Amino acid sequence: MSDGDVQMKSATTVAATSEPAIVFDRVGVSYGRGRKASVALADFTLRVAVGETVALLGPSGSGKSTALKALAGFVRPTTGSVRLAGRDVTDLSPAKRGIGVVVQSYALFPHMNVHSNVAFGLKSHRVPRGDIAARVTEALDMVGMGGYAKRLPRELSGGQQQRVAIARALAIKPSVLLLDEPLAALDAQLRHSMLGELQALRKALPDTAMLYVTHDQAEALALADRIAVMRDSRLVDIDTAENLWRRPPTDFTAGFLGGANLVPCTVNHVTGTAALVTAGDATLRAEAPQPGVGLADWAPGDDALLCIRPHTITICKPSERDAMRATVSTSVWRGATTRVELSVDGLSDALAADVAGHFTAEIGAVVGVKLPDPAGVLIPRAVGDTATNSGSAAS
Ligand code: ADP
Ligand code: MG
Repeated sequence: MSDGDVQMKSATTVAATSEPAIVFDRVGVSYGRGRKASVALADFTLRVAVGETVALLGPSGSGKSTALKALAGFVRPTTGSVRLAGRDVTDLSPAKRGIGVVVQSYALFPHMNVHSNVAFGLKSHRVPRGDIAARVTEALDMVGMGGYAKRLPRELSGGQQQRVAIARALAIKPSVLLLDEPLAALDAQLRHSMLGELQALRKALPDTAMLYVTHDQAEALALADRIAVMRDSRLVDIDTAENLWRRPPTDFTAGFLGGANLVPCTVNHVTGTAALVTAGDATLRAEAPQPGVGLADWAPGDDALLCIRPHTITICKPSERDAMRATVSTSVWRGATTRVELSVDGLSDALAADVAGHFTAEIGAVVGVKLPDPAGVLIPRAVGDTATNSGSAAS
């Protein structure tokens, strides 16, 4: 599928209207009934434009797969509706929705060879017999599996099986492609190369809307035009990957996407997008993002969280000019970087720093710490929010 010149047109001709390819309209899903009912998806609203890729990113159990299943027709929404190209499909059977679906476990038929697996979906979509062989070949070529048509799934590697599963989804020329953690079962190296191939596939399918479910922020950043962050059955934030990473609207997104120190602070002064804040005994410059629709402006006296990315912190000699004094609490080598937990004089919370290479320091060693300028970006602190940096800097 790295062949950029292979192009497939969507069978469902893209309507000349501005209807989104996918609409979730206040979708709720509960599993079980009565007192045993549990909410898996609540008030979920999302629009995906024709040709757009949106990643549903969130921890395990946050409702990502449930959202995808509601769209594919595998679960029935308890409330709300789903639309494809403007058409309400909430009550339509999965096969009639014409969606391509790829799941983590590949779900290939073990007794059928690769060709038959890909042809299966075409038969159930009533593609004329005479067209099937050509369509299968076209789909297998797209994922670089043209030479494997006669193999059985068990004669393929995990990565190859997933390519076949993708070919099977593409063969019906869907205008909507859903992928549920398609790379989760692959080892790290293969996942990386498959990511590159999925990027190429996106380019080859400019009219196909994709919904890509993952718990891996790296996959979301690599593939998505926009990322929808999910937590506890709900959508928390949605924006371009760049915006969510640079100016996370919530502490949850800051921590989940990229890892962050979230230092409680008070706003002293704001001019445009530049703020001066107090954190502990320190006065720091911070970026104050323009408030969103319906959100109040930043004002002096506001409680906020200062999001400082671990990789922007530098460690130096304590005697260096402008350095804050800190004590090393832990230091964990990760290969390319070392994660150093620091207790900084004057700050109430510990800071995590990612420094290049293998940083060796005794526990308890006194070092200097320099924050970038501005030190980070402000995030609103909700009333009763107990967020501190502990744990959220995990990345
Ligand atoms: P994710 O894909 O983000 O890991 P899911 O959508 O699979 O999350 O699950 C969301 C919640 O719904 C979880 O609490 C999960 O345990 C529950 N759940 C998922 N499928 C079922 C099911 N078939 N029956 C009952 N509960 C379910
Ligand atoms: Mg899931």
